[in-house]
Amino acid sequence: MNLAERAFSELFPEKKSSRQMVVKYSRAFNAYNANVKYTAFSMTFSLSRQWKKVGSEIQIGLIQSLLLKVYKEKKNTINIDLYNKFIKSIGDYSEVTESDPVLEQSFNRVNEKYFYGMLDKPNLKWGGNSFSKLGTYEYGANMVTISSIFKAREDDKQAEELLDYIMYHELLHKKHKFSTKNGRSYHHTKHFREKEKAFENPNIEDELKKFLNRKSIRHAFTPRKKSWIMRFF
Ligand SMILES: [Zn+2]
Repeated sequence: MNLAERAFSELFPEKKSSRQMVVKYSRAFNAYNANVKYTAFSMTFSLSRQWKKVGSEIQIGLIQSLLLKVYKEKKNTINIDLYNKFIKSIGDYSEVTESDPVLEQSFNRVNEKYFYGMLDKPNLKWGGNSFSKLGTYEYGANMVTISSIFKAREDDKQAEELLDYIMYHELLHKKHKFSTKNGRSYHHTKHFREKEKAFENPNIEDELKKFLNRKSIRHAFTPRKKSWIMRFF
C-alpha cells in the first residue's frame, strides 16, 4: 500500500476507492504546499519536494486533510493532528531567502508598531496584479505574498498605509496560526478579527475598498470577504 492508499483506508475504513491513488513529489510548489487532482479513475496527490524528508505519519495527515476536502467531510485523526502541529511550527524554522526592500520596510514598520519588534522576518514576495488575492501567508513556506497592485510611488503615504494593513493581516496569520476542529482549519477566527481591529486607522477598510474600486476599473470588484484567500496547503 502506498501512502495515499493507507491514508484513505485509515480515514474511511468503511469506504472503498475505485480510483488509483498516486503520490508525487514536485518542485513546482513553495515549501510544504500540496494539492490533489482527480479524475474518475485516479487521484493524484502532489506534494512539494520538502515533504519527502518528513515522516510518513505526518504525510498521511496531510493527504487525509486533502481527502476531507475532496469528499467534503469533517473528521479527525491522530495523523491530521500531527500534520497540523507540524505545519504550524515548521514555518518558524524555514529558511528566509526571499525579500524586497519595499516589503521589508513595511514589515519593519508593522513589526515595530504592532508586535513590539518581536516577529522574525518571514519570506517576503510580491505576487501578481491580483484584485482577488490581496495577500497570503503560507505557513509551511513562512512566506508573505502581497499583490503587486500595492506597489506605489515612494511619496504616496496612503498607498503605504494600505500596504501596511495587508502586511499586518498576513503577519497576524504568522503569529496566531490557525485553529482546527474536525479536520477543518479556521484562520479568521473571532480572536483574529479582534486583533485586526487594532490597526491604528479605523477607516482603513473603507479606504481599501475605495482604492480597489479606483484601481479596478477594468476588473469586477471582489467583495471583501472573498478577497483574503489563505493558501494553507
Ligand atoms: Zn487572512
